[in-house]
Amino acid sequence: MTVGLDWVKPSMRIGVKLNLCSARKPEHAATTHPVMAAELAKLLIERGAEVVLGDSPGEPFTPAILKLVYNTTGVRLCEEVGGKLNDDFSHHTVSFPEGKSVKQFEYCTWLSNCDAVISFSKLKSHGLMGMTAAVKNLYGVIPGTMKSEYHFMHQDPNDFADMLVDLNEYVKPVLCLCDAVEIMEGNGPTQGTSRHLGLLIAGKDPYETDRLCAAILGISEDEIPYMTAAKRRGLVSAEGSADYASEAEKYGLHDFVRSGATVGWFSPTDNDKLGKKILKKGLYILMRSKPKPDESCTGCGHCARGCPAKAIEIVKGRARIDRRKCVRCFCCQEFCPTGAMKVKRSLVARIAAK
Ligand code: SF4
Ligand code: SF4
Repeated sequence: MTVGLDWVKPSMRIGVKLNLCSARKPEHAATTHPVMAAELAKLLIERGAEVVLGDSPGEPFTPAILKLVYNTTGVRLCEEVGGKLNDDFSHHTVSFPEGKSVKQFEYCTWLSNCDAVISFSKLKSHGLMGMTAAVKNLYGVIPGTMKSEYHFMHQDPNDFADMLVDLNEYVKPVLCLCDAVEIMEGNGPTQGTSRHLGLLIAGKDPYETDRLCAAILGISEDEIPYMTAAKRRGLVSAEGSADYASEAEKYGLHDFVRSGATVGWFSPTDNDKLGKKILKKGLYILMRSKPKPDESCTGCGHCARGCPAKAIEIVKGRARIDRRKCVRCFCCQEFCPTGAMKVKRSLVARIAAK
């Protein structure tokens, strides 16, 4: 475990960006496990570092919301070993002229005040991006509900993927850890099913870390739009090393249950020739999934408040979605506290999978 921490110097202030996407208990496998976060904090503190841990969930970035998240996810454990949970809820605009999709964005100040950032993600299925691990974890550097606005501004999955790559290029985490002990499959990233995998995946680079995660889950990199974006930009080699295949052979899954929404390959990119673009666009429209509340919907309105397209209304105690407005970002699935909001695959996608 000590491998990879030789860069830590006494009195360095290190920010650990956890995945604390919502107030869920550790057994739900939606958030970075508190025991692992605390162990990392301990190792860094032993090397003389000051450690601040945190995240910005999709809800308002306020002390009250974060208190609930810290208490429920169990990360208070980090305080017992001397780590500090972030209590700075300010943000500021940063400029990133090198960005492809975002050249300026809102950024959580607590991370700006650190000398180095470690990304400590959770391995889960994800509706829009296929999976979430190191790269997607850095979406949480954008404060609270502003994430919904960024979803709305970047509706095309490839554009959204480029934005994630921009955020990773801006933050440049020095170390990427991914908690893959209990992973989430199915209706991820917050309402899926927990499954034991028993791994801690580590890398110096978010794309290579996720490449190994994808190999272990048995997901093709072509189905993960941000991997395609990173390759297009020359940030990762076109092919992974043979080591990934052998790690996947030893530890990987052959039956990982994906989110119903995965359509990565079908989303046209700038590099596609016109014919392929038209074919992919047509298939994309036919294959794309849609969010739909099931009968367990309580009408609480969390999804409606978080929907960037204002496509959800609560009618007679149930969520109702205006399909013409829906941009298929699947934030509503992420925000739903009961798991009632499901991602439904299209009829064409279901037939094609048979
Ligand atoms: S209804 Fe759900 S998927 Fe559609 S835009 Fe709103 S939050 Fe996104
Ligand atoms: S958040 Fe879930 S339970 Fe609440 S209204 Fe939306 S679908 Fe229903």
